Amino acid sequence: GPVTGLATGELLGRHRAVLPDWLALYYADPIEITHGEGRHVWDADGNRYLDFFGGILTTMTAHALPEVTKAIAEQAGRIVHSSTLYLNRPMVELAERVAQLSGIPDARVFFTTSGTEANDTALLLATAYRSSNQILAMRNSYHGRSFSTVGITGNKGWSPTGLSPLQTLYVHGGVRTRGPYARLSDADFIAACVEDLRDLLGHTRPPAALIAEPVQGVGGFTSPPDGLYAAFREVLRERGVLWISDEVQTGWGRTGDHFWGWQAHGRSGPPDILTFAKGIGNGMSIGGVVARAEIMNCLDSNSISTFGGSPVTMAAGLANLTYLLEHDLQGNARRVGGLLIELLRAVAAQVPAVREVRGRGLMIGIELARPGTDEADPDAAAAVLEAARAGGLLIGKGGGHDTSALRIAPPLTLTVAEAEEGASILEDALRSLGS
Ligand code: PMP
Repeated sequence: GPVTGLATGELLGRHRAVLPDWLALYYADPIEITHGEGRHVWDADGNRYLDFFGGILTTMTAHALPEVTKAIAEQAGRIVHSSTLYLNRPMVELAERVAQLSGIPDARVFFTTSGTEANDTALLLATAYRSSNQILAMRNSYHGRSFSTVGITGNKGWSPTGLSPLQTLYVHGGVRTRGPYARLSDADFIAACVEDLRDLLGHTRPPAALIAEPVQGVGGFTSPPDGLYAAFREVLRERGVLWISDEVQTGWGRTGDHFWGWQAHGRSGPPDILTFAKGIGNGMSIGGVVARAEIMNCLDSNSISTFGGSPVTMAAGLANLTYLLEHDLQGNARRVGGLLIELLRAVAAQVPAVREVRGRGLMIGIELARPGTDEADPDAAAAVLEAARAGGLLIGKGGGHDTSALRIAPPLTLTVAEAEEGASILEDALRSLGS
């Protein structure tokens, strides 16, 4: 039913007084989520929401998934200790599974506590391996909030400092929503981007690596045509430049057709380095890096991560991954995601503000524009977010310099009935924009 009461005023005041101003909050009246189950969460007023965003934020599989809760409780009751210095059985077991699933030959896995740290480690490896502090990144990308990852992030709305420990060059390829690139065919688009890359490489010392999200997450769920990274790979190989695939949002089957986002560029083979985080712990903080042993082992002194690989998070990851594979949630993402995209495209055809419904699996973006124009419409995106919330549905937003895309990423156990319910609430929210 419709959302009632808003008990968060007092907590919001305290939040504002003690936390940083730049800690982003959704909604004019931010939500305090108090509990969840399956694909639903509840707020402090007892309102129930269908959660079409938590799947990317944290909860890949389902809220309060009993199998994961049990694994966490059992491990927490046994031992919570340093993840390194002593042998750690759950860490070894999860590393074995991830290494095997990664597609990277002779893979080594290092666990961290976040996607930021995973990318930091990938950058450390690539720069050390190649003795270069120059990085290629994609326009409109997002890779984290540490000094190095902020420095390479192409989406400047998420780069709170212009300073950087790395020298970064930005490559075309992530965004084709607007501008001259949007009008090219897939093949011409790839050719133009490859030419751009060749041009960049021709005028620099060889960079350490190209880092890219196969589908840009924060950037609004935009993906390049399949095959772009295969084409890039050939150019990079000529110069010995590594390819880092940031799978923090695209990993574990979310895109439906593939287990990893890089597989949409199959011809290129696996990346040299792969990073992951977010949902693999179903809400517990797990990040990590996978690389060939030769690259992983290029560092020449000891390192540990005090909390990365903590037995409790590893137990959660193992239980979550087991559930994901046993229930073929990648297949569910493909089937239910495919249906959801169709439903949303049907709605979009009737709402002038919708410029494009895009995505794959349960990673769906809706691009909004001022009707009849190409102009991004962040106000419309904000209005739809509020209207959906009032109707009992949580979604995300994102995009480039203007936040004009809606982001839909439910937990991977989403049912057909829930997809239909969510699409219907979104339809009302989109129609409330008028024409
Ligand atoms: N890479 C990508 C593609 C991301 O979307 C994010 C988080 N939005 C990160 C890295 C950083 O992950 P974390 O917030 O866990 O540090």
